[in-house]
Amino acid sequence: MDIEYIYAAGDRICSDAQGQWLFSAPCCDHGVALEKYDLTLVPDHQVRLVILPESQSGGLSSGRGLRQLLSESEEQQFPLLSRAAQVVTWSRDHSYCPRCGGGLVHHQQDLAKECEACGLIQYPRISPCIITLVIRGEYCLLAQGIRFTEPRYSTLAGFIEAGESAEDALAREVREEVGVEVTNIRYHCSQSWPFPHSFMLGFFADYLSGEIVPEPGEIVDARWFHYSELKDTPIPPGFTISRHLIDAFLDECEAD
Ligand SMILES: [Zn+2]
Repeated sequence: MDIEYIYAAGDRICSDAQGQWLFSAPCCDHGVALEKYDLTLVPDHQVRLVILPESQSGGLSSGRGLRQLLSESEEQQFPLLSRAAQVVTWSRDHSYCPRCGGGLVHHQQDLAKECEACGLIQYPRISPCIITLVIRGEYCLLAQGIRFTEPRYSTLAGFIEAGESAEDALAREVREEVGVEVTNIRYHCSQSWPFPHSFMLGFFADYLSGEIVPEPGEIVDARWFHYSELKDTPIPPGFTISRHLIDAFLDECEAD
């Protein structure tokens, strides 16, 4: 059985000068590794993650960030890269037990860490979020968030709070961010989003009532876009679930 390898140093996935980050043979000394994890999800594709000290990452230290690696990778590699990045972040941030402060060691069976003192088990953290495209006939609602690093219009998204259903979270987020009520919420697809550990549940929702009022401090601008405007609008890149939702809406409009 062939094994593939992913390397990380600090909180960064390593890549070579060509941007390759998945290697079919070991390409450095694993004896210096700080941590090793088995990332295998399907039996016929064995993958190991090797976390190296920053000083030992050698030739695997090109300056590509995670977003660039994701944008350059094939779509079927997205889940593996996302998984590796999340495990690296989790491993870095979980050295001590949050209950008793004891040291954490690798769990025997699971991808997890276990407290040597009290036995508490820590799994990689996953934070569920909703992401939604609100539709009004041939129009969809896109917004520019205040934290966006470039001018771009995207779908609305937010974390699911403790005790909430995904549908309740969606209605609340849309109400908070743009002041609009929605109905006919329907699931489309999901994506594991490694910034740093979100799990995006993607929905469509139909407009019900209200005028757009962007939330101060969160949303710079929000408006209705006719589907024919979208090709001239800066929208998220192809590897994002936001784009999958927008493209599915476009396909449906253009088919009618
Ligand atoms: Zn403990």
